[in-house]
Amino acid sequence: MSASSLPKVDQFIAGQRIQPVSAGPDTAGKTHSVINPATSESIGQVELDSIRSAEQAVQAAALAFPAWSATPVGDRCQFLFKYKQVLETHFEELAGMIVREHGKTMTEARGDVRRGIDCVEFACAAPTLTMGKTLPQIAVSTSFCRTEDKSGVGIDSTVDRVPLGVCLGITPFNFPVMVPLWMWPMAIACGNTFVLKPSEKVPLSAVREVELAHEAGLPPGVLNLVTGGPAVVDYLCKHDDVRAVSFVGSTKVAQHVYTTATNAGKRAQCMGGAKNYMVIMPDANQDAVIEGVVGSAFGNSGQRCLAGSVAIAVGNAADWFVPRMKEAVTKIKVDAGDTPGVGMGPVIDPASRDRITGFIDSGVKDGAELVLDGRACPMPSRGCFIGPTIFDRCRPGMRIIDEEIFGPVLSIMREETLDAALANMNRSRYGNMGVIFTSSGYNARRFRTLAQVGMVGINVGVPAPMAVFPFAGWKQSFFGDLHANGEDAVKFYTESKVVVQRWM
Ligand code: NAD
Repeated sequence: MSASSLPKVDQFIAGQRIQPVSAGPDTAGKTHSVINPATSESIGQVELDSIRSAEQAVQAAALAFPAWSATPVGDRCQFLFKYKQVLETHFEELAGMIVREHGKTMTEARGDVRRGIDCVEFACAAPTLTMGKTLPQIAVSTSFCRTEDKSGVGIDSTVDRVPLGVCLGITPFNFPVMVPLWMWPMAIACGNTFVLKPSEKVPLSAVREVELAHEAGLPPGVLNLVTGGPAVVDYLCKHDDVRAVSFVGSTKVAQHVYTTATNAGKRAQCMGGAKNYMVIMPDANQDAVIEGVVGSAFGNSGQRCLAGSVAIAVGNAADWFVPRMKEAVTKIKVDAGDTPGVGMGPVIDPASRDRITGFIDSGVKDGAELVLDGRACPMPSRGCFIGPTIFDRCRPGMRIIDEEIFGPVLSIMREETLDAALANMNRSRYGNMGVIFTSSGYNARRFRTLAQVGMVGINVGVPAPMAVFPFAGWKQSFFGDLHANGEDAVKFYTESKVVVQRWM
């Protein structure tokens, strides 16, 4: 089927799975072709400029808010308990959809769904998490006190956590099921209603995720999904009825969304891009290093905000680290995500593949030593494949060191000391994650103290916080105050209201 004859990807508005309202005469009516990156075959068309659908989604969410926010929190969580079960029932179906539209291996796709379900489970704790605080008898109401006993005439104070209203979520391509689940389950558990705008590159599993929520009994309008591109994002971020914006994506867009939303008076949390360093100390457990660094640099084809992109080998660690990495990475089988024995799938689209190839070209031009060339890896000729690449003897100032690649390229640097490695890492404009491999508690402690990042791994290649912990980086990797997940999410999706009361 030709791309243009494919049906448009549905929206989910007011409980109905519907086609987007085609863009009006005031817009160009552009579309984006969703592809299976393993075959380059088109599998859907996304309406990019459907402002009218975006408006309908916000209206539906605003209409649903009074009843949903008045629903007891325990009842709201009953829906989430059911939804968890529905996700378990449809676990393999969702993972298969991720493989098809994103290109992950089946194992990685299952991880995407599992970590998303963790967030639903965490949101089930909303009755405890959203409890307020009370301080009785903060003062005595002496004017109404007729007895010596003042205990019955005191003034009490309470802080309640109350929902905001309509919240908005804008998500990237690299975790199609999990990142939306970072946002909307906790938002609605707190009593808000929600509009989700998933990545135009991977909208199909998000539509199914939202559809399953309705099969689990979510009332219409509480959760809505609208597809689209930048024009839809900008419209939603400025909408009068939207109170809060959660964004995950690249730094440039994160900064733009943060500025747009906060200028319009919204609260915003915007997770951006990353350039993550892993420090390999000579005393590290070598097997743990190789397993951890391979998984971090090449898992999800390097398309993770927690991908280890630069490894700094300290002292003589490079002597064993570089040859052992080459040996391990050469064995990774590059193929479609559902192929038996596959270790790495394709990258998301031809533009990404070309960008990554451009980075490899630049590394060679800048004088880095090409240990393994992903351009020459055995891989399918169809689809958006690029093999794992390793550079050694990289230096600051090279593009492969200074910029986010978001692909399967590991750049190795060599330094004499831990402090020199830390200095290199901390000069990055990003600060998402930093990792150290060592058997020394002193080194580990020095690293965790001095690393200017939001997430630290000690002998762990991908230190992804579980849903009960906050998730976000520092510096250009994050714009906002309250991080995703954990108690930060509860605070982000609620407002505090203080009550001071006395009874005569
Ligand atoms: P992206 O910034 O291109 O897109 C993210 C979202 O923003 C999409 O929904 C997209 O439609 C929208 N968008 C794109 N351009 C826009 C514009 N000009 N104006 C308004 N909206 C726009 O990101 P991506 O390529 O989908 O995802 C990869 C990026 O996400 C990487 O940089 C990665 O590091 C980052 N990421 C960060 C985290 C984190 O927690 N820090 C997690 C996952 C991914």
